[in-house]
Amino acid sequence: MSAGRHRSDEGPKVIKLKIMIDKNRNRVIFAESDHEFIDALFSFLTLPLGTVLRLLEKDMVQLGSISRVYASVYSLEPRFLRTSYCKSMLIMPRNASEVQCEKLKLNVDYSENAGKLFVCNSYSPRCKNIFSISQNTQCFRCNRLTQFDRKINEKEEKRSCRGESVVEVFLKGGAASFMITDDLQVMPASTARLTSLFGKLGVSDKSEIEAKTVEVGTDEVLQLLKFSLLSKTALTNMVLNSQGSWLKDISKYEDNQTAKLDKKTMSQNTNSMSLKLIVSKSKKKVLYAEAGVKLVDFLFSFLVFPLGAVVKHLGGNSRLGCIDNLYKGAVELSSENYIKSEECKNMLLSPKLFPHSGFDSHILEVEEEYPKYRYDDSGCIELARNTNKSEGSSIVNEEEASDLAINILDPKSPTGETIKGEGYLKGPATFMIMDNLLVTPFSPTAIITQLNQMKVSTSDVEERTVTVGKDEVCTPST
Ligand SMILES: [Zn+2]
Repeated sequence: MSAGRHRSDEGPKVIKLKIMIDKNRNRVIFAESDHEFIDALFSFLTLPLGTVLRLLEKDMVQLGSISRVYASVYSLEPRFLRTSYCKSMLIMPRNASEVQCEKLKLNVDYSENAGKLFVCNSYSPRCKNIFSISQNTQCFRCNRLTQFDRKINEKEEKRSCRGESVVEVFLKGGAASFMITDDLQVMPASTARLTSLFGKLGVSDKSEIEAKTVEVGTDEVLQLLKFSLLSKTALTNMVLNSQGSWLKDISKYEDNQTAKLDKKTMSQNTNSMSLKLIVSKSKKKVLYAEAGVKLVDFLFSFLVFPLGAVVKHLGGNSRLGCIDNLYKGAVELSSENYIKSEECKNMLLSPKLFPHSGFDSHILEVEEEYPKYRYDDSGCIELARNTNKSEGSSIVNEEEASDLAINILDPKSPTGETIKGEGYLKGPATFMIMDNLLVTPFSPTAIITQLNQMKVSTSDVEERTVTVGKDEVCTPST
């Protein structure tokens, strides 16, 4: 258990899981758990890709081309970025559901700034509604730095304060028991599902089955995150730690993952961007692409995309380990009413981007979260979301909202004010994008070296301009 991931006043947290093991085949048949563990599993869908890659960095996990994008941002010199915080926004992105995830018993993405906003250190009334996502951002009203953090409170927590209350994150906190298969299908436990699962797996002789109880902590959930992306037998890998099978899965995955920059389909979508492909005439092969700030910004912004949004955009076919099953489980549990609210369902099935993470020329139109924050006289910020209008419990009415609404500085912008169409990168600049999506600033020396390495002469090189629209972007291999 690594110390950094827990607040010091809390002991290590664990969840007990009952596990059924097929002893002959040395694999997990299913695990049984309550809502707390399922919440931890479903929270994977809210994690931005940049967070996933950062969390799995020490295990040297490669997730195809997106790992190259992450590496490109990681090594990019600060002068190419609009502000010093832009790099953190991409490689340590904040989760639009972080206030909810903080309530998880096992939260893999615990970070110091999660669920906090920062306020400038002038006590001027002019600044009292100006907040920033990161510490030490310049306040555009008084030019001082934002230094003091303010915790974002969730409105509904106040209501459940009296007595012992069950902490609910995404699922309703009842006594419901769930089954999780080895490939992370999540379903409410029932005899019919149990017998059907045993039938499917060909498990009949009851003597080959062993029941076991295991304790799962944050480190195990992190392992599960890794295996959920790389393997089809995630629970077996986590519990029995059979390294061999998932290594095989990775190699299969890597084989399919060469980005197809040479796709020439022109898109009808008006919201598209063009790039120059540098082609070898004799080899009929794309060597690299040359692109401006807009396209590279777009590529980099994949890192702020939550995993669930990626699965959604690929129509449930991300082909990443067991993630598609996990997503399907969330779809089915919400239709059976196990999910707490419509809002929670959307957090999992259509997760949004953290405020100011997107930029307006985004082709994929993943919405940015704009929670209705309000503050009170003591300077506390409250996350007051309008959830269920039918219940008449509208938390913020329009008048009240405009009065207490807060202003969040855009950390991508040097002035804190959002400039339409501007992303993370400082333009104008040209970048080289390799076939595997490694991005580097354009440099003539680097080009010559590159061509030499590829054994291509400069006279064999030809330039072609193509347009990239939504269809190209949604291809699983990119
Ligand atoms: Zn100020």
